[in-house]
Amino acid sequence: MTTLEHLWIDNAPHRPHGSGLVHLVNPATEQEIGTAPEADAADVDAAVQAANRALHDPAWHGLTPAGRAELLRALADAIDKRAAELAELITTQNGMPIKMVRWGNVAGTSASYRYFADLAEATPIEQERVTPYSRTRVRRDPIGAVGIIAPWNGPQILVAWKLGPALASGCTVVLKPAPETSLDAHLLAEAAADAGFPPGVFNVVTGGRETGAALVAHPGIAKIAFTGSTAAGREIAKVCGSQLKPATLELGGKSAAILLDDADLSLINAQVTRIFSPNSGQVCYSCTRVLAPRSRYDESVEAVVEGMGLARLGDPLLDTTNFGPLVSSRQRDRVEDYIGIGKNEGADVALGGGRPADLDRGFFVSPTVFRGVDNSMRIAREEIFGPVLVVIPYDDDDDAVRIANDSDYGLGGTVFTSDPERGLAIARRVETGTVGINGYEPTLDSPFGGVKGSGMGRELGPESLDGYVELKSIYNAPPL
Ligand code: NAD
Repeated sequence: MTTLEHLWIDNAPHRPHGSGLVHLVNPATEQEIGTAPEADAADVDAAVQAANRALHDPAWHGLTPAGRAELLRALADAIDKRAAELAELITTQNGMPIKMVRWGNVAGTSASYRYFADLAEATPIEQERVTPYSRTRVRRDPIGAVGIIAPWNGPQILVAWKLGPALASGCTVVLKPAPETSLDAHLLAEAAADAGFPPGVFNVVTGGRETGAALVAHPGIAKIAFTGSTAAGREIAKVCGSQLKPATLELGGKSAAILLDDADLSLINAQVTRIFSPNSGQVCYSCTRVLAPRSRYDESVEAVVEGMGLARLGDPLLDTTNFGPLVSSRQRDRVEDYIGIGKNEGADVALGGGRPADLDRGFFVSPTVFRGVDNSMRIAREEIFGPVLVVIPYDDDDDAVRIANDSDYGLGGTVFTSDPERGLAIARRVETGTVGINGYEPTLDSPFGGVKGSGMGRELGPESLDGYVELKSIYNAPPL
């Protein structure tokens, strides 16, 4: 049991004002593994004040971009130093297979901080723009104290994609991690302090929805960077809208994998845990709608069933496991409800459809594939966030694009084809923020995010810095 007694403010443990607690449960064993304080509005206020003080502290404010880059690289080193501890802690909290955590949430996290260090150095703070009639300086100032609100499925990497550009731009931060993954946020805080960030630059308040809502509403927070559900994103956007506070919102998805009629279906086996159902389907860009040509429908369903059938469920701390439990009993209930909804809607279960018989503890759900699915069914329209795929038939390429785009979401997608040019032509027509051809993997140097119900704004790539600065134009008196 880990009993975390403090929040983290001004590079030091901070005794919480209230007595509320968050209880953490290992989803693979169903055992309670620890508690963390639930920060109240007074705690959030203390963290926001610290972040605003640090914003004007010469120790931070006075750093050049190269100085900030140096600290970001030291943070990457401090993460690498804690790699083993971080990986085990994340898997124990959220059930993500440890191999995936090491690669995605630890190595990927330090790589992200190094990427943003390079970007800080490469991005001039001021640019002079001269025409025969004018001479203007365009300046990039840090937007202010940023509130980061993170989900449990990528507790380090999804923070790095926000904290990296925030620090690179000279902002300060208050992080509110998901309650399920409260513990690793404190390792990050220690790493940031070890790296040498001045007090108040990075602060952590643990807690649930109420803590997050207090952070969003705080007038001392200049911007919100959020990843989570579309429902929470809408609530946050309302509050931010009323305060004219910018927000980057990375929300849910119901992405489509389009199997073109020339697709090599043998590719599917290797892609199940990367594209179709990574982290047992608890990844926002999972391609949970598989669109198959009517002429090859049966063999497509067979290929998807074969691929999902290869999943190795079990203890997520073992290197051999590639399919862990769902994060909580609540999440498992939700996924089981959707499986029931699919059956009632008349879809056929081609694989799974319940709990694995050989695992008597842990919040596991068997890899599940529905066939005979129409895109109007709820299991094709709503984000399930579990290991449930639906295979939807289409008539021709235009029909495939129509179905892919007939969604309330628009985050990811993949086109499978033997002809990359044809794949590119289809990818251009898919209405999402990101899309892959015969593979899908977000890259540090390209913007990531969604359209429609999948959110607003982008993370990663040089463009991501724009969300963390205010632009100021300084005019010189025009020549008379
Ligand atoms: P969630 O929305 O319930 O919670 C996310 C975070 O927001 C948590 O820290 C939570 O405490 C906080 N929160 C919830 N309501 C809030 C409110 N009204 N005000 C302020 N904070 C609030 O989501 P979850 O269940 O933790 O995460 C899963 C969701 O995240 C899925 O929908 C998934 O698609 C989405 N997600 C999106 C991306 C992406 O990049 N687009 C990546 C990963 C996950």
